[in-house]
Amino acid sequence: MEKVVIIGTGPAGLTAALYSARASLNPLVVDGMQPGGQLTTTSEIENFPGFPAAVTGSELMDKMREQAGRFGARYVMDEVVSVDFSGKTHKVSLSDGTVLESLSVIIATGASAKYLGLESEEKLKGRGVSGCATCDGSFYRNVPVAVVGGGDTAMEDATYLSRLASKVTLIHRRNEFRASKIMADRVMSNPRIDLMLDTVIEEIRDMGRNEVTGLVLKNVKTGAVSELKVTGVFMAIGHKPNTGPFRGQIDMDENGYIITNSTRTNVAGVFAAGDCQDHVYRQAVTAAGTGCMAALESARYLESMGQ
Ligand code: NDP
Repeated sequence: MEKVVIIGTGPAGLTAALYSARASLNPLVVDGMQPGGQLTTTSEIENFPGFPAAVTGSELMDKMREQAGRFGARYVMDEVVSVDFSGKTHKVSLSDGTVLESLSVIIATGASAKYLGLESEEKLKGRGVSGCATCDGSFYRNVPVAVVGGGDTAMEDATYLSRLASKVTLIHRRNEFRASKIMADRVMSNPRIDLMLDTVIEEIRDMGRNEVTGLVLKNVKTGAVSELKVTGVFMAIGHKPNTGPFRGQIDMDENGYIITNSTRTNVAGVFAAGDCQDHVYRQAVTAAGTGCMAALESARYLESMGQ
């Protein structure tokens, strides 16, 4: 029987692991499908306090993992496929068939990139359609690419890709950006980035080659249809929470985000931290903060059970 099982190894999961380990709770941490979480797919992180010269996402996550490990956090490289929160103790089933039983569980499974939902997009994922510029950008050196979206991710992706691709076209469905001013300004002053506003993608073309050759675009104000030749298209249109295995076991909102009150869920002994329960802030530092809260809440819960 475990005292604390932590699901996910982004900043929320690893901070929860650090606090639980330092409280001598010997946490078992399940890595999940993307060890280190979304930060491992970003380039430099300039806004995590304590790193004035910036730090790469992978480096930051490696350090967090090492830090929690130093105090006794144990890691298991597997994915959670289902859970059973109906009993007094909680069961967590892994893809290799192992069933973990634990007095408390901290869910920190994060969120994943969203796609447009076009048929042509689905077919060309990994063949020019990508949800992660920093993972796949280096495959697009000196060729034209497009980025879709108007938030900070789109700005970050367009800026990053402008250093690799021959040309970046940023396609956004409105004529105003949701992104922070500093990041939008960086894009607008970059001569290697073209803007196509009030524009949506109607189709991703492959010309029978099974890899992206271009986009069919539509101006939503004028209705004008045009074509853009690109070799890659990067979706940066937001995220969806990775909460599938918990559906039906725990309260969620209509978008699948876990409903929490100071990281407590509606199930006693089950806590949630980071992007799987936060569609508002979604920052590494807020994820880490809620990971800390979840660990403290879980320690309090265990104490109330005499553990
Ligand atoms: P956001 O939700 O902020 O932005 C998503 C963008 O995609 C919006 O511009 C939206 O358009 C557009 N969009 C959504 N759905 C569609 C669709 N179906 N078709 C076309 N366009 C669509 O997500 P982000 O991932 O950009 O950012 C998430 C959070 O992470 C934010 O809080 C952001 O500040 C933060 N972040 C911070 C970074 C940093 O500081 N370094 C880097 C990256 C993210 P519309 O505006 O019309 O709704």
